[in-house]
Amino acid sequence: MAPTVAWHQTAGSARHNTRVSGRFAPSPTGELHVGNLRTAVVAWLAARSRDDGFLVRMEDLDLAQSSLEWERAQLVDLSELGLDWDGEIIRQSDRFAIYRTAIEDLSARGLVYPCYCSRREIRQQIESAVSAPHEMPGAYPGTCRRLDPETQARKRQQGRSPALRLRSDHQAREFFDLRLGRQQGGVDDVVLARADGVPSYNLAVVIDDAAQGVTEVVRGDDLLTSTPRQVLLQELLGLPTPRYLHVPLVVDAEGKRLAKREMPVTLRQLKERGWSQQQLLQILGQSLRFSSPGESVSMTMLIDRFDPALIPQGPMDWTQFLGD
Ligand code: GLU
Repeated sequence: MAPTVAWHQTAGSARHNTRVSGRFAPSPTGELHVGNLRTAVVAWLAARSRDDGFLVRMEDLDLAQSSLEWERAQLVDLSELGLDWDGEIIRQSDRFAIYRTAIEDLSARGLVYPCYCSRREIRQQIESAVSAPHEMPGAYPGTCRRLDPETQARKRQQGRSPALRLRSDHQAREFFDLRLGRQQGGVDDVVLARADGVPSYNLAVVIDDAAQGVTEVVRGDDLLTSTPRQVLLQELLGLPTPRYLHVPLVVDAEGKRLAKREMPVTLRQLKERGWSQQQLLQILGQSLRFSSPGESVSMTMLIDRFDPALIPQGPMDWTQFLGD
């Protein structure tokens, strides 16, 4: 069934810039680490190499962890590396009403159901399930999808407030990644709003990218498995699907995500070690194979060298670049 609202026509920045295409969408819940900064560099270069607009959007859905201080610190780091952006910076916390209208729209079409499962219950359900060969690993098993109205009423009476999930069709969805080519992945009954009422990342991101006229989404490859879910949501809300570029993560020597306490991973921590922002950019450029080892570069210099095919396939081992 067709969506009832034109989601494209809602956000501010697209008004100011008709050639918006790229964006960086950090969560202002801490300082950016080298992985975030490397992704931001790629996103900016991708947009500017086409002479296109570039947005920064603050994904501050997590109201408890997000702050204006982190937002400011992140923007300073981006500027120091030489990134600029067009138009105003949109915050997702200002747009909850829009996300809720989208949920109501999906709900009116019978595509939403309440889910009373806690994270622990979902983990247990997944562990005890006989694994079906076609199911996505870690996918929500659909327990509450089949709840009868009496059980739902009982749970509500017990004071349990539900998350809201999309009644997905469990089919795979395809998308195009500039580095990886055509990709495919399964879709589960993705959360649209958490039990505390906060809209979900997957919902907000598709609405905002469309509303802001984003045609190319550059982000970390930890989100590769979320992309098919977002493609389904785009379909259901009548939104265009952008093309994607998932950038490999930056990891430690054991291949694990960077932990800020174990080694310097933010620009501030690196500066405390005597690094400059130019040095960091030099390392990032080199790690992306856009520049040679030791070559001093600026963001502007790298624009003409941007080529997604050059980006190494595997994660970047930060310890190899860090030195002693
Ligand atoms: N806000 C997400 C993050 O900081 C990125 C989401 C996206 O780029 O789609 O990991």
